[in-house]
Amino acid sequence: MIDGLPELEDLGPVSGKSVLVRADFNVPLSGGRITDDLRIKAALPTLRWLVDNGAKVTACSHLGRPKGPDDASASMAPVKARLAELAPEVELLENLRYDKGEEGNDPAFVARLIEGHDLFVNDAFGASHRAHASIVGPPEHLPSAAGRLLAREAEVLLGLRRNPRRPFVAIMGGSKVSDKLGVIEALLEIVDAIVVGGGMAFTFLAAQGHRTGSSLLEADMVETCQRLLAGPKTIHLPEDITALGPGGKLFDPAAGGEVRQIGVNVPDGWMGVDIGPGTAAVFTDVILDAGTVLWNGPMGVFEDPRFEAGTRAIAGAMAETRAFTVVGGGDSAAAAKEFGVDTDMDHVSTGGGASLELIEQGDLPGLAALRESAARRG
Ligand code: AMP
Repeated sequence: MIDGLPELEDLGPVSGKSVLVRADFNVPLSGGRITDDLRIKAALPTLRWLVDNGAKVTACSHLGRPKGPDDASASMAPVKARLAELAPEVELLENLRYDKGEEGNDPAFVARLIEGHDLFVNDAFGASHRAHASIVGPPEHLPSAAGRLLAREAEVLLGLRRNPRRPFVAIMGGSKVSDKLGVIEALLEIVDAIVVGGGMAFTFLAAQGHRTGSSLLEADMVETCQRLLAGPKTIHLPEDITALGPGGKLFDPAAGGEVRQIGVNVPDGWMGVDIGPGTAAVFTDVILDAGTVLWNGPMGVFEDPRFEAGTRAIAGAMAETRAFTVVGGGDSAAAAKEFGVDTDMDHVSTGGGASLELIEQGDLPGLAALRESAARRG
């Protein structure tokens, strides 16, 4: 048990018991085919432990955002087929979101879901920040536990809040300050320094009085950034920038437009799309000197090969540093994988929104439901 969070061993003997497992099988699909089965594989340690210990296992998950129960594009059929190869003993229910009761946390839907089951396991970290029926409902009725994946995510991410090896540095990137303001404010309480790159850096640079040209800018967040910059913690910002000139288009080199390394003032008509090489070197030093690094968000438009260098440099430094390295889910996890360093990280979170929310709030509805379930049962 970590911090009151019940684990598989706390369920008692599972042999002969029927166990409902909430997994996160929300896999990327293209033309009805799974393009990355990582989320299915990530649930296997939990599923195998239950099967090996004699349980009868039924898994359930949501998939995409189905428009209604007849939306065949969100059918679990492709997941079912892959799961039959990886864990043939495990049954799989249809997409939970085919029923409105899932997102509405309807007690009648919870009752139908748990019918015939003796125990419940939540291993869906990526969905545990939502108080949906399958996340918070079953623990109210069945003895419940966190699966291996959920327990590890909670251990690592809550560990960052409690006793990180110092200096603790957060690398923040991505497009918007407004999306990540809550987590930036929470991180400023616990880190020693924050490194800001990506589109969001330009609102910080504007807050320092620099010109941002046609770069991403959230004018209504400039004052907020000024307040953050005036705080006691170090916030590292870009010192040089890779910019795309007038007429240039992202993802379309044929459209022309000059690509140039510039300082921190972006001329009119130019767009800052990556951190420059000098900044990449400074950020690399910060990562190499850290005791713990949390990385969330790319340093530039890394999906366009012309502007991937900054994000690639950060990925390389993350692989090289002796610090404890944690990658938040979503785009940074995709970047770590693309640059071949995902397996060098100490932890790559499987949940984008969930990992940020857990760091920000220190808890998630799904975790609280499991702890309350264990507390009720003594
Ligand atoms: P987010 O979803 O907020 O984490 O943002 C990720 C997206 O930010 C990626 O798709 C990047 O292409 C984009 N991004 C990163 N840096 C920039 C930039 N300087 N200008 C525009 N978009 C950016």
